[in-house]
Amino acid sequence: MSAPVLPRVLQGATDRPLTLAQHEAMWGQWRPRRDLLDELDRAGLTGRGGAAFPTATKARLLRDQHARKKFVVVNAMEGEPASHKDATIAQSNPHLVLDGALSLATAIGASHIALCVAREKASMVNHFERALRERERRGSLGVVVEIHTPPGRYIAGEESALVHWLDDNETLPQYRPQRPSILRIGRAPVLVDNAETHAHVGLITRWGAEWFRSIGTAQSPGSMVVSVSGAVTRPVVLEIALGTPLAEVLAAARADTDPQAVLLGGYGGSFLSAEHLSTPMANEVLRPLGASVGAGVIVVIPRAACGITETHNIVRWMAHESARQCGPCAFGLPALAEDLAQLVTGGRDAAAALTRMSERSDVIEGRGGCRHPDGVVRLLRSALQVFAADAHRHAAGQPCAYAGRSRFATVPRLELENDLVWE
Ligand code: SF4
Repeated sequence: MSAPVLPRVLQGATDRPLTLAQHEAMWGQWRPRRDLLDELDRAGLTGRGGAAFPTATKARLLRDQHARKKFVVVNAMEGEPASHKDATIAQSNPHLVLDGALSLATAIGASHIALCVAREKASMVNHFERALRERERRGSLGVVVEIHTPPGRYIAGEESALVHWLDDNETLPQYRPQRPSILRIGRAPVLVDNAETHAHVGLITRWGAEWFRSIGTAQSPGSMVVSVSGAVTRPVVLEIALGTPLAEVLAAARADTDPQAVLLGGYGGSFLSAEHLSTPMANEVLRPLGASVGAGVIVVIPRAACGITETHNIVRWMAHESARQCGPCAFGLPALAEDLAQLVTGGRDAAAALTRMSERSDVIEGRGGCRHPDGVVRLLRSALQVFAADAHRHAAGQPCAYAGRSRFATVPRLELENDLVWE
């Protein structure tokens, strides 16, 4: 058995999940590691769900809580429509995620693991259930492990909304002015990490920090599982070394390598224009450009597409998916979506709509109970910058031939459209 270079998390991936025996033949038996948190620190692992917070720092905060009961939560909700990495990991090796959760539970002294998968994703639930039954047949896990299936909305994957659901069956984000903050189920403190993060923990438990850092950059070590969609032969999930130039990722994904732009991070992420395709996939380089690797989503927008229409499609859906418990989501996001609709058509109100959007964005930003509206504002601002020439043509009543046809940044069908509240 030798340490893998790439793929790591997706090693041995086929369309059937590895059994426990196959997993152990590939990786050896899982054993807890006493120095895990120090090793995670040395590895520099950050959360792969979007926020990129240092995993060891978060875990230490929970380890230092004195409580009779603590939870580790595996967030495999994957509410981003363009993200399929958690589903791919569940389909290839759910045991690696369980290894990571068991490692973290041991390290922080947690008695419970809650594995959360959207109830609509039946095959993912099934993969984790089968893996769990296999582990239980082997003997006691030493902790209580349960699979939970909240409703699969975008906001349900926000960590405080997820914990709220586990605590009280409501997928509403909790107001947290300070980060990091301790989330709780009842009185029990909770450590939440994304499924991919757990899989990396499972590997670091075995191979250590030096191995983890042998790929990636000094500031963004390791690998990341990314979902590439939009102008691609077919949507694909790949594992890349962080720091790989975007152009190389697109080539590996058999995507359009001469696109107009890419959307990076997720639907609360940012567009980057084609001139930045040589940029490495690493936050230290992307952040000065206003972008980040986020949850590893890359949507390729070809030249034969209307960036304004693609943006409208996303903003309209994001407005619909908010929990609508704060003003920015209840009123601001639907109003932005309506402004974008005006801009798409290039009608009489289009120029005024363009001006209104920047005013509304300033009012919305930073005012939500969670960061959902900030993500939408970030996406919109980047779109108005990257597609500035198009936006001004639309505002002047001359939309392009592709206007009104969104085909690349796909979203689930809106079923409750009438619920949208327009200002
Ligand atoms: S900002 Fe939006 S999504 Fe966040 S808590 Fe408020 S209503 Fe909910």
